[in-house]
Amino acid sequence: MMDLHTHTVYSDGIGLIRDNVAWAEKRGLKIVGISDHIHFFTPSRFSAYINEINVIKEESEIVVLAGIEANILENGPDITDEFRKKLDYAIASVHEWFGRNGTHEYINYVKKAIMDDNVDIIGHFGNSFPWIGYPTREEIDEILDLAEAYGKAFEISARYKVPDLEFIRECVKRGIKLSLATDAHRPEDVGKVSWSLKMLEKAGGTKEDLIFSEYL
Ligand SMILES: [Zn+2]
Ligand SMILES: [Zn+2]
Repeated sequence: MMDLHTHTVYSDGIGLIRDNVAWAEKRGLKIVGISDHIHFFTPSRFSAYINEINVIKEESEIVVLAGIEANILENGPDITDEFRKKLDYAIASVHEWFGRNGTHEYINYVKKAIMDDNVDIIGHFGNSFPWIGYPTREEIDEILDLAEAYGKAFEISARYKVPDLEFIRECVKRGIKLSLATDAHRPEDVGKVSWSLKMLEKAGGTKEDLIFSEYL
């Protein structure tokens, strides 16, 4: 299996990259992605991150991917072409707090990320809906239509328990790719994807519905 959302000391995680990879190996994953928060990186720190991941890629028994978690801001995700071209994939997530009735704004932010060439996966889609309010059926359809058209994936987040089953089912039906993600900030949490896997299966999905399934 896979875990494409893990943090290390390069952002707000507590483990080293090699610790995350060691736990991924121990849990029997085939793929682990390192995806630290983009706003922790200066260009030189980013180079060190990429170099370290590349060394570990060579040493590891499993597939190690260089990722990042970008923030979706008012003008779109904060990832540049320079960063993206050194990475295997990029997650973009909404981390802004819109407050009650902020759903429409949240949806507009996500649309910008889906249309951005530097983004591959939308992170923890809808984790703030219980507080800001749920989108309408039409808004969900617009998101799905766009993701289908632009070939973007959604992660199934074991940390936030999103998206809901109906949304995942719709992704499977439309051929929109998914990923399994813990959003681990401690090495020992890497690979705890059983909730995500269960949701994928309940939605009728198989490993072919996962991004990077060629490595599984
Ligand atoms: Zn996040
Ligand atoms: Zn994260």
